[in-house]
Amino acid sequence: MIEDTRTVDQSRLISGATGDWEVIIGLEVHAQVTSDAKLFSGASTAFGAEPNANVSLVDAAMPGMLPVINRFCVEQAVKTGLGLKAKINHRSVFDRKNYFYPDLPQGYQISQYKQPVVGEGHILLDMPNGEVVKVGIERLHLEQDAGKSLHDQHPTMSYVDLNRSGVALMEIVSKPDMRSADEAKAYVGKLRTILRYLGTCDGDMEKGNLRADVNVSVRRPGEPFGTRCEIKNVNSIRFMGQAIEYEARRQIGILEDGGSIDQETRLFDARKGETRSMRSKEEAHDYRYFPDPDLLPLEVEEAWITEIKASLPELPDEKKQRFMSDYGLNAYDAGVLVADRDMADYFEAVAKGRDSKLAVNWVTGDLAAHANARNTGVLELGISADHLGELIDLIQDGTISGKIAKDVLAIMVEEGGSPKAIVEQRGLVQVTDISALEAIIDQVIAANPGQVEQVKTKPKTIGWFVGQVMKQSGGKANPQAVNELLKTKLGVE
Ligand code: ADP
Ligand code: MG
Repeated sequence: MIEDTRTVDQSRLISGATGDWEVIIGLEVHAQVTSDAKLFSGASTAFGAEPNANVSLVDAAMPGMLPVINRFCVEQAVKTGLGLKAKINHRSVFDRKNYFYPDLPQGYQISQYKQPVVGEGHILLDMPNGEVVKVGIERLHLEQDAGKSLHDQHPTMSYVDLNRSGVALMEIVSKPDMRSADEAKAYVGKLRTILRYLGTCDGDMEKGNLRADVNVSVRRPGEPFGTRCEIKNVNSIRFMGQAIEYEARRQIGILEDGGSIDQETRLFDARKGETRSMRSKEEAHDYRYFPDPDLLPLEVEEAWITEIKASLPELPDEKKQRFMSDYGLNAYDAGVLVADRDMADYFEAVAKGRDSKLAVNWVTGDLAAHANARNTGVLELGISADHLGELIDLIQDGTISGKIAKDVLAIMVEEGGSPKAIVEQRGLVQVTDISALEAIIDQVIAANPGQVEQVKTKPKTIGWFVGQVMKQSGGKANPQAVNELLKTKLGVE
């Protein structure tokens, strides 16, 4: 029996022709374990090797070959379980999942079925409006990947590449706790962040190292769960969002026309932006699972779990809390920074010994804007934390204004170099020299008698004078000093 853990959120409902609908989503994510060797053999997992270069006799299922569990892969799975705040099962079992396919030489996949290595846990989603949504994890189990059929190498034959055969995967199954495409997208993003922090999966969706089967159903708010369809092997977060929206609409259309949903497996066609049926429930495989007689049950001792726990890095949720309490950041800024571990480290290096508000504004504001404009990441801009810190120091000690700092940053991005050197070479040092400022101010006052009259009755218009002086100085005048001098000279309080 699947539990319904959430209350209806009006803002996430989809309106159909006959009223509102709630979308229910549960994800099964396959994450390739980061490991040099495969789950049950010593063959390499290196990506991009010549076809069939990384295939041991075990992976090719030669008669008499026996699988031997890779301890490191188990450690990676346990680590991931701990990162998902999940229960680690001291005893789990490897089963044979039987089916025939040319890329599966054994005739079965070794997978965990009834007794997975990791049980229930959860992931917290940081939604853009600051809301935190908790999504339950049902389980995480270890299994082997299959090989790959190549249909485009020969006019009349298909080839098989077994390099992937036997590579360790973690299947991470969520509870049906998500209620919109945005939540599902946030879930995969957050899961990927956690996996990357842990170093247990590189999360590279383009290489197929992280892919999701997406279960979607719809219902009237308050009703029991409806029949779901499963969309197989979605390999980009954007496509997943499109697939969910299309699928929810399709199901709503059928139900509103008085039809019913058949439980089936569907495929998403990214080119057409639609899902289509792959097989119905009647055609579903009967895998005839049974415990693999070649493998003993997997025992994970408490002492080992304790050891792995001690090796965990600070995870994104904890880092976010620390950024909020130590640096006074708001939830949104903290969430943006911790989404990428390198970005979080970068921010901390910039903020060290400096005003953290300025640091976060420059990292998530100006630097991010330059990165966006170039369609790249903040860290790829090549601005070191030391240089950005130096720039902030120049603002704080009054050498340059915030406005000039933006220009300096643009030069740093374009041409590289240290902000100090750029400021010196281009003579951008802020003018605080009173006599130099006075000369400009006197000139502006002499040239604008009308404005001088007006400021006497409307003191607020002094801002216009500040603007003029700043302009004449090429943005280099110290605005505070200009303000003070103008007040005295114009006799404004
Ligand atoms: P199976 O073993 O047949 O794949 P599970 O019960 O393990 O079925 O569910 C698989 C996935 O489908 C899980 O991620 C779960 O959250 C999701 N799911 C289950 N019921 C629904 C539903 N009614 N709507 C959407 N997703 C669902
Ligand atoms: Mg399933």
